Amino acid sequence: MYRCLASDLTALTTFGVPVKAREYCRVDAEAELEELFRTGCLDDPSLLVLGGGSNLLFVTDPPGMVLHPAMRGITFTEDRGTEVIVQCAAGEAWDDLVAETVAAGLSGLENLSLIPGSVGAAPVQNIGAYGVELKDVFHSLRAFDREDGRWLVLGPADCRFAYRRSVFKEELRERMIITSVSLKLSRGSAPDLGYGSIRTELDALGINNPGPAEVRAAVISIRQSKLPDPQVLGNAGSFFKNPEVDASTASPLMEAWPGLPSWNMPDGRVKLAAGWLIEKAGLKGFRLGNAGVHDRQALVLVNHGGASGAEILRLATIVKQTVKERFGILLEPEVNIIGGALQA
Ligand SMILES: Cc1cc2nc3c(=O)[nH]c(=O)nc-3n(C[C@H](O)[C@H](O)[C@H](O)COP(=O)(O)OP(=O)(O)OC[C@H]3O[C@@H](n4cnc5c(N)ncnc54)[C@H](O)[C@@H]3O)c2cc1C
Repeated sequence: MYRCLASDLTALTTFGVPVKAREYCRVDAEAELEELFRTGCLDDPSLLVLGGGSNLLFVTDPPGMVLHPAMRGITFTEDRGTEVIVQCAAGEAWDDLVAETVAAGLSGLENLSLIPGSVGAAPVQNIGAYGVELKDVFHSLRAFDREDGRWLVLGPADCRFAYRRSVFKEELRERMIITSVSLKLSRGSAPDLGYGSIRTELDALGINNPGPAEVRAAVISIRQSKLPDPQVLGNAGSFFKNPEVDASTASPLMEAWPGLPSWNMPDGRVKLAAGWLIEKAGLKGFRLGNAGVHDRQALVLVNHGGASGAEILRLATIVKQTVKERFGILLEPEVNIIGGALQA
């Protein structure tokens, strides 16, 4: 365990906005959480769990303790031939887990390559990319309940995964500290090439029967060409979720704008491409001081250098209001905003 008062967190988040924690505490082993619970340190109602800081925007300094689960370890716990269970500690980098499982010839995670952040945060917003979500490979997770000091093992139904949502963003928000995640991967199954751009990338490389390693390479190549690298340009990936609307809202929009990308959902609603709406609202590349809408991917807000969290939030509010005026659609943030909220 490592504890420090008045700790600078700027380098621990991918937006790179200045932020300080009153107290920062890194835990390296599960037993340390029990010790913190016994001594009352987990009682703080404003405690914030920090992973890789790649889905957070700090508008103000967090008022309470910032707890960083940093446990390490990847274990192949069960091998049932075509199905393998892999358990991974919360503090491992997500993409290291993807790399290790792909190198072991397992499929399931390759489409989720290069997503920044920690394994412990992956269930929180049910990370997803290129037609695959965490829920598709999820087996269970282990978490410490800081309200009563109990250890829990939660399965898929307990986690209530949905598009960029889970119980950890709702009722159990900031209550559960996820310490490991178990995934059900497969050996020898066909990769998911449902997303056109992966197939196109593989075709360009002349690969006909790709395995997980080839799909991972294709996904990495696509992502590197489209998304800004947070080491170079601060960002937190997609700032907004793709809005899910009723068919009666979607139909007139799709008639008026035939190019609007949309996906029919199993519940009859329609998901619309937020990036397209932002771009067509004329905001791609728009700048507000040191904050901006990325010039290649309008769904990503960036820190051009020296932006504050408040400046990025002001930009996000302009984006939200402009899209509402133009299309009547309300965008919701995908990024967790600390110390502020988007204005309607
Ligand atoms: C360039 C870029 C591309 C991205 N692409 C994608 C993408 O394709 N798909 C996608 O889904 N996301 C994407 N993201 C968003 C982000 O990478 C994911 O949401 C990631 O899972 C966040 O992990 P983190 O460890 O950085 O979490 P943090 O940002 O540190 O935390 C996010 C939330 O999880 C909570 N949390 C973190 N760790 C734990 C824990 N152990 N227990 C309980 N709660 C915890 C935090 O309190 C917070 O509410 C992208 C981000 C960037 C910067």
